[in-house]
Amino acid sequence: MQSKGFTTRLVHADRTLNQPQDGAVHQPTSNSVLFEYQRVEELVDVFQGRKNAHAYSRQSSGSINALQNMLAQMEEGVGALTFATGMAAITTAMLTLLKHGDHLILSQFLFGNTNSFANTLEGFGIDVTLVDVTDVTAVKEAIKPNTRAVYLETIANPVTQVADLQAIGQLCEEHGLVYMLDNTMTPAFLFDAKKARASLVLGSLTKYIAGHGHVLGGAVIDTGLYDWTRFPNINEDYKSQPEEMWGLTQIKKKGLRDMGGCLTPDSAHLISVGMETLALRMEKCCTSAMKLATYLDQHDKVETVYYPGLPSHPQHFIARELFKYYGGILSIDLKPEVDCFAFMNELQLVLNATHLGDTRTLGIPVAHTIYYEMGAEQRAKMGISDNMIRFSVGIEDTDDIIADFDQALDKV
Ligand code: PLP
Repeated sequence: MQSKGFTTRLVHADRTLNQPQDGAVHQPTSNSVLFEYQRVEELVDVFQGRKNAHAYSRQSSGSINALQNMLAQMEEGVGALTFATGMAAITTAMLTLLKHGDHLILSQFLFGNTNSFANTLEGFGIDVTLVDVTDVTAVKEAIKPNTRAVYLETIANPVTQVADLQAIGQLCEEHGLVYMLDNTMTPAFLFDAKKARASLVLGSLTKYIAGHGHVLGGAVIDTGLYDWTRFPNINEDYKSQPEEMWGLTQIKKKGLRDMGGCLTPDSAHLISVGMETLALRMEKCCTSAMKLATYLDQHDKVETVYYPGLPSHPQHFIARELFKYYGGILSIDLKPEVDCFAFMNELQLVLNATHLGDTRTLGIPVAHTIYYEMGAEQRAKMGISDNMIRFSVGIEDTDDIIADFDQALDKV
């Protein structure tokens, strides 16, 4: 199956990888929390790792494993873990791999909640440096003897900065650092995380992967490229596993088992069904986003359009190398004299809503909402202006989306 195309592999993945009974094409959803064994010795073997089976559904179950198999196959990785939300995946990976006294390099262009989590890490004695990752030299200069990992987003939310992901991947490899890439904006169909030498691909399943605004979820996928024997924080107990599984074992044991932010089986089912149409939805929303960005870029009431597909975008040439399409997110600054709230209130098709990666086109004034709490100084460092509006382009017919923007801009 591996040589087949992206969608062919995805729509047959549940059936072929997980082999549900009775010819079912979907893994059945099982909500059993507990798993019974006829003989107590078997239960002991499960606990002690001699038998590969489920003990308690906070750590694993058939429905969850089925989705994890599909995600691992999608990224061509060695394994995947799923979590209740994208934030649960991100925070669990960081808290289980890092410890007091370690240093972490974080992109200064990050989703607001990940950025805010940096304070929590600092409270636990983890030294965090925020870096302009569009400058590879700045990343290199930030590396210290106790640096353990570098974390960034493939296309940053909401200003759409794109770092040279391959050059940073090479840097991480040279220094033995875990390279964590949040690819929420560019799932596997758009971007080959292994080509950029990512160690862990992580982020939200709530967005493009599930795709319909009806379920929360997150994942950590190990690409198999990182040599975990170079990582000093692996607990001795987990080293009985194959070396390529050391990282995921630690995240699973310390994270899912001890911290407990697991996905529910019903959510896993909804996500796996949504995922089957990932490429179709992405092709549509990215094509529309490109056309909308081009239209807005030429409009006299729009000051700036932030979209990596535009030749004027500062990292357009890097984005062109990295991504199959330029994503479904674009942000704009209207001309100072145009009231951004009035414009948004005139939009009829576009929903005023927080979220992205939906089938519907969504808009949000970011400085007043998601990035409000961080304050003006931090927003300025991230390139977020007071009137910036972020749009997540949906799969509606392109002409209808552009017509809606056109009529709203006419009225303000
Ligand atoms: N990472 C990025 C880039 C995001 O945009 C988001 C949410 O918008 C998240 C992570 C968090 O995902 P979730 O809402 O599933 O917790």
